[in-house]
Amino acid sequence: MATIPFNDLRTQYLAHQQEFNAAALRVLDSGWYILGKETAAFEAEFATYLGAAGCAGVNSGTDAIHLALRALGVGPGDEVITVAHTAVATVAAIRMAGATPVLVDIDPVTYTMSPAALEEAINPMTRAVIPVHLYGHPADLAAIEAVVRPRGIWLIEDCAQAHGASIDGRKVGTFGDLACFSFYPTKNLGALGDGGAVTGMDPDLIGKVRLLREYGWSAKARYVSQVEGVNSRLDELQAALLRVKLKHLDTDNDLRRELAAYYGALLPEQVVKPTERLHCRHVYHLYVVRVPERDRVRAALEAEGVGTAIHYPVPIHRQPAYEDNRAITTHRLTQTELAANEIVSLPLYPGLTEAGVKTVAAALERALAA
Ligand SMILES: *Cc1c(COP(=O)(O)O)cnc(C)c1O
Repeated sequence: MATIPFNDLRTQYLAHQQEFNAAALRVLDSGWYILGKETAAFEAEFATYLGAAGCAGVNSGTDAIHLALRALGVGPGDEVITVAHTAVATVAAIRMAGATPVLVDIDPVTYTMSPAALEEAINPMTRAVIPVHLYGHPADLAAIEAVVRPRGIWLIEDCAQAHGASIDGRKVGTFGDLACFSFYPTKNLGALGDGGAVTGMDPDLIGKVRLLREYGWSAKARYVSQVEGVNSRLDELQAALLRVKLKHLDTDNDLRRELAAYYGALLPEQVVKPTERLHCRHVYHLYVVRVPERDRVRAALEAEGVGTAIHYPVPIHRQPAYEDNRAITTHRLTQTELAANEIVSLPLYPGLTEAGVKTVAAALERALAA
């Protein structure tokens, strides 16, 4: 019986082993390990890839969101609207900045922020909105911008799952006042450790993030804090490895899209498959479907050696850490709660083969028929 793991990072390393090893040795041999040439080169290359004016490497995607909020002056007393159907990191970062997360419902087709729900949640304390390009599908930024721009509310994109996704050919990470990426190893552009970045179209704002990521020091005056900052730096080793990964990002995303299309052709009718909205390029960070009797189906897949996961099983407002109004909901999150009960993520990553997809699809068909 063929076993299909939910993910396989080692195969992704082995696919470009020589390049990764050479990059790592170059850094080890350089004698310079934090914020040097590799980080500067990666920042420039990633900004160019996106079509952004600037990029600041930081320690994680969570830090990227935290520092983007701080660079925009968002903090205690401010409300920041995002979704409950996201990685907890999005909400943890809002709390790190001292602001209050307000969670709104999602669109049931793309699983991204509902612009109508966003509009209902806005009040005079709303300072920023963080749509998440969840699973690799762009949020409806045109509708969201129509809500936030006239009101002077900051727009921060959470691009942690959407490296290379685009709307009308323009990459996500270039729409918001600032945008945030994670390079956690499983992401479409993943390091071999932790990493993150803030990107944007305003070099001054990127400069603010650069100050904040290292104690408020400027390049000209080290050891003198201009503003109160933190330590959140992208290290040279991860930057060098990310430069290798970036070269292969488009090929990897194309492969993800091919595997997704293959799933789409093979999966039985009862399975609700992901949709790609018109003008959007989905990069399938995750291939998330809805099935009846989800938990039974998952167990049956597991018994056949097929790994699955749920992203995410408990909406954030239902998690113990965020009760007691640490995260606010103003309306019922009906679509969020429905999704949490029905979704399952199937294996999809560069390194998975068409034969692997076939195996998963056949196992799913058997599970549904049982
Ligand atoms: C992974 C992720 C983050 C956080 O990134 P880390 O690098 O793990 O801190 C934030 N938002 C979303 C949607 C993510 O998937």
